[in-house]
Amino acid sequence: GGAVLALSLAACSGEGAGGGGDTSDKKPGDLTIGVAMPTQTSERWIADGKAVKEKLEAKGYKVDLQYAGDDIPTQSQQVDQMITQGADVLIIAAIDGTALSGQLQAAADAKIPVIAYDRLIRGSKNVDFYVSFDNYKVGVAQGTGLLVGLGLLNKDGSKGTAKGPFNVELFAGSLDDNNTQYFFGGAMDTLKPFIDAGTLKVKSRQTNIEQVATLRWQQETAQKRMEDLLTSSYNDGSKVDGVLSPYDGISRGIITALQNAGYGKAGKKLPAVTGQDAEIASVKLINDGVQTCTVFKDTRLLAEQAVNASEAFLQDKQPQANDTQTYNNGVKVVPAYLLPIVTVYKDDIKTALIDSGYWTAEEVAAGQ
Ligand code: BGC
Repeated sequence: GGAVLALSLAACSGEGAGGGGDTSDKKPGDLTIGVAMPTQTSERWIADGKAVKEKLEAKGYKVDLQYAGDDIPTQSQQVDQMITQGADVLIIAAIDGTALSGQLQAAADAKIPVIAYDRLIRGSKNVDFYVSFDNYKVGVAQGTGLLVGLGLLNKDGSKGTAKGPFNVELFAGSLDDNNTQYFFGGAMDTLKPFIDAGTLKVKSRQTNIEQVATLRWQQETAQKRMEDLLTSSYNDGSKVDGVLSPYDGISRGIITALQNAGYGKAGKKLPAVTGQDAEIASVKLINDGVQTCTVFKDTRLLAEQAVNASEAFLQDKQPQANDTQTYNNGVKVVPAYLLPIVTVYKDDIKTALIDSGYWTAEEVAAGQ
């Protein structure tokens, strides 16, 4: 009785079997970082997990990397387990940004610092740091990419030669992901003047984020919605000229629906389609002139920031933030380190993706 009680108390207070508390005098080999990633169905999260793990292990830390198959209870359980097994820092890319409050309270009670990775965790005071990209700028880049694809703007931001009007449709990401509102907000701020002027027409009239969202960012869900849009709004001989897409997987679903409906053949030009993440299948589509552009976010740099922040916490220091105002999670403003983004059109693939070693020329040509 007594011994067991003492042991569990020690575990709870973060002493003994590792797990939070004062770690500044411990060797890396005695410290474990729990890394919770959402899913392996999207390439970027595989790259993120791999990069974080490799960089931490190179510094001698132990890493517990888990993927949750985009299932919220699975992710909650994985984080619970990291805490009971004595993680010293948690790095979490949440599936649902509001679903982890209980876990984060347990982490705080055990003095385990929590770093939100790419997606802000909402509704909890126990989020200690946030590493991400400038998510509003991602949205602006996507809106701008659509305008460039339509010829209304040039890449340098100057006015293009096209006049319109153009028919466009809008897609957003998963509503439970805090980033979704930033991506869609940035894009809509960019497109709205053109919509107001009548240069862009959303024929379906679906312009609210709730109407255009894509649960769990799924490609099949996006394909189905694009098919439905073609049936409901474009069965009168009119054509879609452009589609705002927040993520490459969604873009591929949209493109498949369009191709199945005859776009890309016999004078029926494929619309301009945006994207995000520089997934290899989409980089090939951009290279082949099928997709307009993607937003490249270098996951290697993000992983590095997560590792820096972890080390700072382990040494009882505060990680270095470059944004302390933007990311209010509903309870507090979380200090953040935000990385820059790069829009990649066909003629940027070499400099942005190949020369930087993100993809090889062979991979781009093969699409895998
Ligand atoms: C990320 C994007 C990604 C999307 C779908 C977002 O939270 O910021 O890079 O495309 O999730 O996985």
